[in-house]
Amino acid sequence: MAPVRFEHVFKVYPNGYTAIKDLCLDIQEGEFLVFVGPSGCGKSTALRMLAGLEDITAGKLFIGDRLVNHENPQQRNIAMVFQNYALYPHMTVRQNMEFPLRMMHMPHRERHARVESAAQKLGLTALLHKKPKDMSGGQRQRVAMGRAIVRDPAVFLMDEPLSNLDAKMRVQIRTEIATLQERLDKTMVYVTHDQVEAMTLGDRVAVMRAGQLQQIAPPQALYDRPANIFVAGFMGSPAMNIFQTRLQTAERGELLLAFGDQSLVVEPVVANSHRNWSPYLNQRILAGLRPEAFSLANGEPESSLQVEVRTVEALGHEMIVYFHAPVARIEVEDSPDSTAAETSTPEPTSSLLTARVPAQPDVHAGTQLRLGVEMSKLYLFTREGEAIA
Ligand code: ADP
Repeated sequence: MAPVRFEHVFKVYPNGYTAIKDLCLDIQEGEFLVFVGPSGCGKSTALRMLAGLEDITAGKLFIGDRLVNHENPQQRNIAMVFQNYALYPHMTVRQNMEFPLRMMHMPHRERHARVESAAQKLGLTALLHKKPKDMSGGQRQRVAMGRAIVRDPAVFLMDEPLSNLDAKMRVQIRTEIATLQERLDKTMVYVTHDQVEAMTLGDRVAVMRAGQLQQIAPPQALYDRPANIFVAGFMGSPAMNIFQTRLQTAERGELLLAFGDQSLVVEPVVANSHRNWSPYLNQRILAGLRPEAFSLANGEPESSLQVEVRTVEALGHEMIVYFHAPVARIEVEDSPDSTAAETSTPEPTSSLLTARVPAQPDVHAGTQLRLGVEMSKLYLFTREGEAIA
């Protein structure tokens, strides 16, 4: 039995807005599951339904083998770890951690034992007498976790716990949370709009868009094999370049990908490993190239493009190059009201694409560049935006 199961769950708010559409999802024992998606996609709603803070309009929600649709938050055996830690400043770490157990009228001895055990797991034993103000952000996060752990919940929930922190703290606490989850081996459900957090924390990541689950997979699988252009564009920064094109056959068994008046050569070895591309030959499709699929060409690589640089963002060891490209780039909207097909403009046109390459001093606006393209990193999608896997 999975610790959490969403079975065809819907959420319609009283104003008639459907925030969750037919969510089906199993969360495994000990798993760190991250809900990610743009603001308003329904990820907090999903978490709040699991916490018992929002009722479920249709479908079934299980925690363990219990149907919890009608259970209140206290009955669900879950713990929500809040963004601001919500620690009591006048209480010591021990008192903070004991607090929920006192509220449950747990006898002193058991309370003491549970706090000691949680403090040990979290490396807080030496800090039990301290007050929150004398501790670092990471330590406070641990205390907040400790206060949740003492209740021994089946599932931990976290809703954007890092969103109020500065960049440095975010990285520090993110690492802390990852370490904690590994050490505790507890089921955790985590909500964020930040794809880097999702990638670095999740055992699996559930990508949401406008109330609908787009794909659920381990982070690397999402990155390597996105199910559609929404996931492809959302996971990865800078985002994948997605543009309209056609795939054509050439002599010697290779394929050509149209790129304005130029074309990219899909070598036979790549073409042969994608036989399922053949039904799409000579049709309008979408192609995706991540910024890291480009390189500063040396010599004459098989696939390369001659481009003019629009701007360069220097990041020290590498640079992001924005270049003019004679193709129609697709921008994927957060809400599916506008599908790829609808937003498409007649080709050819001009867009800015992005390349991520090692830093080089003499590249600036107006520079003519030859960019190599690693065609084994090419993604193809139907006009409707589904991956041609
Ligand atoms: P996220 O956490 O992904 O930013 P939410 O789950 O908070 O999104 O909200 C999903 C959608 O539901 C949003 O469009 C939001 O405006 C809407 N929504 C949230 N709460 C309510 C409510 N109480 N009444 C009506 N609509 C709501």
